[in-house]
Amino acid sequence: MSSSKRVETKLIHAGELRPRVHGAVTLPIFQSATYEYGGEDDYHDIRYIRLNNTPNHTVLHAKLAAIEGAEAALVAASGMAAISTTLLSLLSRGDHILLQDCLYGGTHDFVTKDLPALAIEYDFIDASDPASWESKICKNTKAIYVETIANPLMRVPELAAVVEFARSHGIVSLIDNTFASPINFRPAEMGFDLSLHSCTKYLNGHSDIVGGACIGKAVLVKNVTRKLNHLGGTLDPHAAFLLHRGLKTLALRVKHQNESALKIATFLEKHPAVGGVNYPGLKSNPGHASAAKWFDGFGGMLSFELKEHDAEIADQFLKELHLPICAPSLGGVESLITRPATTSHLGLSKEDRKKIGISDALVRFSTGIEATDDLIEDFDQALKKISARAVH
Ligand SMILES: *Cc1c(COP(=O)(O)O)cnc(C)c1O
Repeated sequence: MSSSKRVETKLIHAGELRPRVHGAVTLPIFQSATYEYGGEDDYHDIRYIRLNNTPNHTVLHAKLAAIEGAEAALVAASGMAAISTTLLSLLSRGDHILLQDCLYGGTHDFVTKDLPALAIEYDFIDASDPASWESKICKNTKAIYVETIANPLMRVPELAAVVEFARSHGIVSLIDNTFASPINFRPAEMGFDLSLHSCTKYLNGHSDIVGGACIGKAVLVKNVTRKLNHLGGTLDPHAAFLLHRGLKTLALRVKHQNESALKIATFLEKHPAVGGVNYPGLKSNPGHASAAKWFDGFGGMLSFELKEHDAEIADQFLKELHLPICAPSLGGVESLITRPATTSHLGLSKEDRKKIGISDALVRFSTGIEATDDLIEDFDQALKKISARAVH
């Protein structure tokens, strides 16, 4: 298929086997651990599920590379398998990495707890202040790592400056693109070396598997593949099949989620019972100008605080909602809502949360694909109940 096709078309056709297997319109699940020896002369080319090369893997690799406009891709058992394996393929004893200070909790824990045990050093940077990065670079710095939209305040780093900084210092640029998804941002097009995903979220989109991906420069993806072959965090063919199925509707889902989240964020921002709303699509957001310049959409994730600044009232509010399910994770077809202080950021002390701007009353919302007006009506009735209680 020509690479000039649009992303909606690539999601359906890119990477698909030709000829189709027995004419099957959908790629079947290849439930075979091993395959007949075909004269391979490299261990990594032997066909075996752990070596990430069954048709369920290779079709996904080609499709993911195509939709991000990158050279190569690799799927892994989870987002954390992709992230940890990628970092271990780039860094060894005595190396140093720069990372944005507000990271996904699992990544933060891996970096601060597991890398030091391997004598790998790290420093955190303020990703929105490129002038401050120079002083943090060391002789042994090998990479710089950011997230497209940082959880839970939905901040957008100076993305173009990250690519420029990495190029000028000859280091590898990495980005966790989970929150944006390739529909809204394609890191390779900006010049990022590698992009990482929790496929558990938007890429699969149905909250029924865990999976991960590493997408980018072919030489780097090859090294990550070899490391993954050794560490063993391969994606099971059943999960690969579900990811493949989920991916086909990615554009439809994300475009609806973009539109819906913007309408909900605008509704909440105007509501008298709501304090502040964090969403890159709102003009009030510090990352709005960058997001508007670089993104095709602002995503489905938003967070906000009630005027009544109280964790207990926030919990009452969550209980009054009928549609969003109170659960961690994000990016599925069903709307999910959480209080980050009790879920994603429970590992941090109250003081550390405060330092990075996460109050105990902050609520985070992952927009599903329900009718936007039903979600707004649900928020409206719950806010009315909470406001009525505050008055009495
Ligand atoms: C969920 C998530 C991860 C980890 O992915 P898993 O599939 O749960 O291992 C990494 N980064 C971000 C931004 C995430 O939201």
